[in-house]
Amino acid sequence: MARLKSQQTLKSILHDYFTGMKSPIAWCTSAGPVEILRALGFEVYFPENHGALLGASRTAEKYIPRAHQAGYDSEICSYLTADIGAWLMKETPLTHVYGIKSIPTPDLIVYNTNQCREVSEWFNFFGREYDCPVVGIYPPRYLEKVSQADVENVVAQLKNLISIGEKIIGKPLENEKLTEIMMLSFEGSSLWKKVLETSIHSPAPLTYFDGCILMAPIVVLRGTKICVDFYSEVLAELEDLVVKNEGAVQGEKVRIYWEGMPVWGRLRSLAELFAQNHTAVVVSTYCNSWIFDAFDPQKPLESMAYAYTQIFINRGENSKLKMIKKLIELFKVDGVVFHDSKTCFNNANNRFGLPKRITDATGIDTISFDGDLVDLRFFSDGQTRTKLETFIEQIKYKKQAKYSLSHD
Ligand code: SF4
Repeated sequence: MARLKSQQTLKSILHDYFTGMKSPIAWCTSAGPVEILRALGFEVYFPENHGALLGASRTAEKYIPRAHQAGYDSEICSYLTADIGAWLMKETPLTHVYGIKSIPTPDLIVYNTNQCREVSEWFNFFGREYDCPVVGIYPPRYLEKVSQADVENVVAQLKNLISIGEKIIGKPLENEKLTEIMMLSFEGSSLWKKVLETSIHSPAPLTYFDGCILMAPIVVLRGTKICVDFYSEVLAELEDLVVKNEGAVQGEKVRIYWEGMPVWGRLRSLAELFAQNHTAVVVSTYCNSWIFDAFDPQKPLESMAYAYTQIFINRGENSKLKMIKKLIELFKVDGVVFHDSKTCFNNANNRFGLPKRITDATGIDTISFDGDLVDLRFFSDGQTRTKLETFIEQIKYKKQAKYSLSHD
């Protein structure tokens, strides 16, 4: 998957990020108010990124049972169980990759339940372990529309976070600094959106699987110039591929929307499966989750409250359908694959009738397969391959039949 040159740049950026991290350090959820933390002067660490690393390095299976022993159920978020298990065993893949002894010690722990309540359990575990202050942002959930009252609710909570952060740092938040960081977050997010949108082109220069690798900076370095520079470089590389008409998948015949979490321990094999079947996964809810169009540096708290509350995972079913439908049309998708991740129902959107509503609204087919973000006990290579290849064959057959009809 190291097809893109910018993946080399990514390696060095992540090396510097992890090895250069120094106190004061805040932990934050991936769609949490990182801009406030940076503006206060914290460096920021993201346990979800660590969870993904545990999955991608396939070490999660070693650690998850340890969390079960500590009383965490086998069917709850496997980021949580893998991460807590690794902590209890005093290990981290960061040691092997970057030579770091342990995950960074927090001075403040912050989460946003815009994605799930599990983050509260997870981050409070570490609050107790480190005897560290924990601040939770609890926005209204599952909204069809985000109202002014919802925004005001979250702004009040962000102000509370600022006052706790100021006490830890020992100085007030500088408004100019927050504006500057919001500007960088907005630029980074806009570039990330453009990167993903290069795959509107057929053949797509970027697949979902490339996106899962390239997305690290928009999560862990959002609000920094490093993030902006990185996505400028990625965008230039992809635009060049578009001009040359070079696709990520040789002989692209089918275009797929991926709904749900990645299977981190099978990223490569799934990328190969789709490529072998001349199928490009061109768009996903997951990678799109770090596009924050609403950021407005002139209204930092209000726009941050709005942007982080209106994310896909925090929306009602009608809004989710609208968002997916728009992307299906924009990226000219032929089929939707739902990953039913067994330990994250929050990111498994196939269980309440959405696949059927998508087919009714767009006429395109969907399929669901069982799996998990990092717990591979829930994933079967053989069954998934059979399911996905049959689905792709059906799409090809239908496309061919449609083409033949229109040329009769
Ligand atoms: S959204 Fe799912 S995967 Fe992410 S932290 Fe919550 S339960 Fe875990």
